Amino acid sequence: MASIDRYDVIIIGSGAGGGTLFWKLAPSGKKILLLERGGFVPREKDNWSTRAVFLESKYKAHETWYDKDGKPFHPGTHYNVGGNTKVYGAALLRFREDDFKEIRHAGGISPAWPIRYEEIAPYYTQAEYLYHVHGLRGSDPTEPPADKPYPHPPVSHEPRIQELNDDLKCIGLSPFPLPLGVRLDEKDPVNSACVRCNSCDGFPCLVNAKSDSQVVCIQPSLKYSNAMLLTGAYVRRIETSSSGREVTKVIVEREGRTEEYSAGVVVVSAGAINSAALLLRSANDKHPKGLANRSDVVGRHYMCHNNSALLAISKKPNPTVFQKTLAVNDYYHRGEDWDSPMGHIQMLGKSDYEMLSMEAPTLAPNMVLRTMASHSLDFWMTSEDLPDPSNRVTVAADGKLKLHYTANNEEGHQRLVKRLKSMLNQIGCEDQHLIPFNLYLGKKIPLAGVAHQCGTVRFGDDPNTSVLDRNCKAHEVDNLYVVDGSFFASSTAVNPGLTIIANALRVGEQLLRRL
Ligand SMILES: Cc1cc2nc3c(=O)[nH]c(=O)nc-3n(C[C@H](O)[C@H](O)[C@H](O)COP(=O)(O)OP(=O)(O)OC[C@H]3O[C@@H](n4cnc5c(N)ncnc54)[C@H](O)[C@@H]3O)c2cc1C
Ligand code: SF4
Repeated sequence: MASIDRYDVIIIGSGAGGGTLFWKLAPSGKKILLLERGGFVPREKDNWSTRAVFLESKYKAHETWYDKDGKPFHPGTHYNVGGNTKVYGAALLRFREDDFKEIRHAGGISPAWPIRYEEIAPYYTQAEYLYHVHGLRGSDPTEPPADKPYPHPPVSHEPRIQELNDDLKCIGLSPFPLPLGVRLDEKDPVNSACVRCNSCDGFPCLVNAKSDSQVVCIQPSLKYSNAMLLTGAYVRRIETSSSGREVTKVIVEREGRTEEYSAGVVVVSAGAINSAALLLRSANDKHPKGLANRSDVVGRHYMCHNNSALLAISKKPNPTVFQKTLAVNDYYHRGEDWDSPMGHIQMLGKSDYEMLSMEAPTLAPNMVLRTMASHSLDFWMTSEDLPDPSNRVTVAADGKLKLHYTANNEEGHQRLVKRLKSMLNQIGCEDQHLIPFNLYLGKKIPLAGVAHQCGTVRFGDDPNTSVLDRNCKAHEVDNLYVVDGSFFASSTAVNPGLTIIANALRVGEQLLRRL
């Protein structure tokens, strides 16, 4: 076993949480080590190939996990520098003010967070500036207060989406420009980093114009000689002193060897599922149920949203290239005839023929699939799932990772899907926009869709019901922090990325005071 230098801070995982924290700490002059199990996503034409990305899963983790019945599945997750932000759709929304409070849903209670919206609001602003978010304040009827405008104007709608926007307004809704982290300059297309292509949501960006944590945080931080990244560094275990009160060693497998690293502060940010698994694997005499797990909460309360994709096939062609520009929050808190939260609607990246043939190989002959792809409007719907202690990550004695999950709070989501269809049937209040939607292809995202994983190492004020305190430090371990999506107390109903980023900046500020 090789023994290596001591650091001031070790961060495990380079995604939204870990990569952002690395950026925050790098200028401090302290020795910071970022450990990432994957390598860099190669820059190659396949980055933008539907076949390579979706059909061949070229950039996905090659791992098998197991469901609650022991059935194997391949998780939709990515192990590489930048984590899942390399392939995310870069829809970067703040949680609503009410999301931080207790909310009654049809399926139960969404608990209050230990911090209020106002405590994280300044970091949301910093996160929006760091990740180059394009948006329009005041356009989203449910958006929380903000102290500054977005750093960039909203990404414009292409004509078909502008038409959809106008039609939705015509039936009394308030569609708004989806806040997006892409480095697009529509006023200066010649010099714009982003070329507004059709391969963004779910793909790595070949021209490094997406605001992912590698591009906006990790690369710029590596210019500091005190900030170091080790790739291919799989953290197997974390060890503590004999009292169990402090982390002493991080055990890493790299290039076939086992290595040990140590630091004054260790921050876990391996993604909600892997962070829980790492703490569970790190059980010892003082932490028999897993590191920092006296409460038995580590791995529990796994959430991932009730998510559905819906393709609305209309008679009118949809030649849109970059479709993910519009969202609807009118049903976020309640529906017209339903007094509970329903959720959020946003456009998906434009589906193409190859994606449809993968989803429905026997559905229709090729020509029909091509016609469907060229006529579809593609939507993504997100509703809140609730933290249930029996929805959990466990690690078997042989190391196999098991994800026990039973969906809950589904009625609001089902109503949202129904409402979207009826909205689309309704639109066309101006003659020239009359578009009969005559076919819907809908799909609830299955267990393997772990994109919005969160909640497995929750924060809170009570050490009996939470693992982390309000600053994301483990209640039981003095130098252990967690900054990925696992700290969430509830899943809310918008994408998690910006909140993970903002929280990493918030925790980073605490750490700078501590170091
Ligand atoms: C296709 C797709 C589209 C998405 N679109 C959006 C979107 O539009 N908006 C949005 O807000 N969110 C989106 N998300 C979700 C978003 O990407 C995640 O919420 C976010 O990246 C999670 O950040 P994280 O820090 O928790 O973990 P991750 O980004 O998953 O990073 C975890 C990192 O830890 C590393 N790691 C894991 N285990 C170990 C270990 N044992 N040792 C060392 N390293 C380890 C992993 O390799 C990874 O790099 C999307 C996700 C996917 C997959
Ligand atoms: S739309 Fe822009 S940011 Fe997205 S993949 Fe294409 S060039 Fe990159």
